[in-house]
Amino acid sequence: MMKIVARRRTIEIENLHRVFQHATHSSSSYSFSCHPNGDVDFNALAPIAAQNARELLAGRDADYRDVGVRISAERQVDPAIGQCECGQRTSLWTNDNECGCGRWYNASGQELLAPDARDRDAERAGY
Ligand SMILES: [Zn+2]
Repeated sequence: MMKIVARRRTIEIENLHRVFQHATHSSSSYSFSCHPNGDVDFNALAPIAAQNARELLAGRDADYRDVGVRISAERQVDPAIGQCECGQRTSLWTNDNECGCGRWYNASGQELLAPDARDRDAERAGY
């Protein structure tokens, strides 16, 4: 069993978007990352998206109206971090996490046989 130095945690991240919605087709819209004041974050956009944003902000597409800033939430999971007997730290993303020293751990930090050794065990057991 490795020492858990950081527990797995889920954090919620709010994303801000400046939204332009089609006047008659409400399911059609453009959405651009923006700052809290509503200014489009051009650094976050691909060139074609930046071009679309400039056109819409300039009012050159009358079919789309500016509906302002919308907030969406996204969850981000940070894995637990364990410290191996060798001293190295390993992220415990899945049930198969290899330390740099070659030891394997599950998501709870319990040491496992290496995957190839598990396969040989399974073959011996007739699976
Ligand atoms: Zn190790």
